[in-house]
Amino acid sequence: MYDYLIVGSGLYGASFARQAADKGLKVLVVEKDNVIGGSIRTEKKDEIDIHLFGAHIFHTSDKEVYDFFVRFCTLNNFINEPLANYKGKLYHLPFNMNTFYALWGTKTPQEAKAMIDKQKREAKIEKITNLEEQAISLVGKDVYEILVKGYTEKQWGRSCTELDPSIIRRLPCRFVYNNNYFNDFYQGIPIEGYTHVIEQMLKNIEVKTSTDFIKNREALKGLAKRIIFTGPIDQYFDFKLGELSYRTLRFETERLEQEDYQGNAVVNYTEREVPYTRIIEHKHFNNAKSPVTYITKEYPKEFVKGDRPYYPINDEKNMSLYNSYLELAKQEKNVYFCGRLGQYKYFDMDDTIRASLDMFKKLED
Ligand SMILES: Cc1cc2nc3c(=O)[nH]c(=O)nc-3n(C[C@H](O)[C@H](O)[C@H](O)COP(=O)(O)OP(=O)(O)OC[C@H]3O[C@@H](n4cnc5c(N)ncnc54)[C@H](O)[C@@H]3O)c2cc1C
Repeated sequence: MYDYLIVGSGLYGASFARQAADKGLKVLVVEKDNVIGGSIRTEKKDEIDIHLFGAHIFHTSDKEVYDFFVRFCTLNNFINEPLANYKGKLYHLPFNMNTFYALWGTKTPQEAKAMIDKQKREAKIEKITNLEEQAISLVGKDVYEILVKGYTEKQWGRSCTELDPSIIRRLPCRFVYNNNYFNDFYQGIPIEGYTHVIEQMLKNIEVKTSTDFIKNREALKGLAKRIIFTGPIDQYFDFKLGELSYRTLRFETERLEQEDYQGNAVVNYTEREVPYTRIIEHKHFNNAKSPVTYITKEYPKEFVKGDRPYYPINDEKNMSLYNSYLELAKQEKNVYFCGRLGQYKYFDMDDTIRASLDMFKKLED
């Protein structure tokens, strides 16, 4: 008899399994893929760690989460400073004094604030009914049209005038010359790659890959006192109330026979006409020395069954469906629905670890 059966070897499952094993509990992890790691997996090619399911940058201000994570890796000094390419011209992100200088030539915070305020006034938006109006009322016309509009339309597959304003609640502007995308205290990329982090977390823990819990439910369920389920909550219940929706991405990765392609890890393409949203150049995440380079173009797409689900769509319809599944979940004895798929919520990696630390404390303290 195991103390825990953990379904999924992603960051939630692996970090929970580690805590349980550290406490001397008996744990079995089952993973439907033939490899461990879930969405944060990386694969080394030509000395470069390829982020297989989108660029992953670890960042947090939570000291306990940071201390837990660095038990399994050494973080490098990577700082995310993405660029935006709009019609061939480059702008710094997030919106800051460098961005405003490139847009308008403004040199001081006062000049930049005055420009944004002027554009907000000129737009004369009285009632906000869609995302376009929301964005213009937050940052003015130029930042919206050059840096927000096309990117958001590609992400959601719809025009900004058809999108709900609640998708963008804030568009933070920084009135300092600082291109660091995150405000967190700690930031970096594991120099050994993310797959190594998961391997270290699962060291000496029994793991069965190529094992789908849903297909082996009857055999697996009786093996443990408690189940931590990190797969999709609707799938656990055989979609009997309906399917939750996601936005997803298609990744196109190329190996290029050149040392450097774009000189930066992340370049967003903010024009509607360019079909991808960004290009990632993997070697810049860990400063890999290699005569070749790998780039990945990210194309947003509608989720269809069989795709990897990426971004939950937390609109009214889906949240109401999720809440109905939550009611069913409450009736499942000793099964806990966790992680981004179990809770139908976007979690950054630090949120994922925090949730796993809290859940373990709740169950074991
Ligand atoms: C495109 C993208 C970019 C991101 N970038 C960042 C970033 O830069 N920084 C950051 O902090 N966070 C980032 N994140 C978030 C990060 O990926 C998540 O926080 C983290 O992966 C969540 O881990 P998880 O274990 O909950 O889910 P997952 O990694 O999805 O793990 C779930 C696991 O369960 C397995 N599973 C599912 N169903 C079953 C079943 N029936 N039986 C057995 N196994 C099953 C799956 O195969 C998977 O391995 C990003 C997310 C995405 C989508």
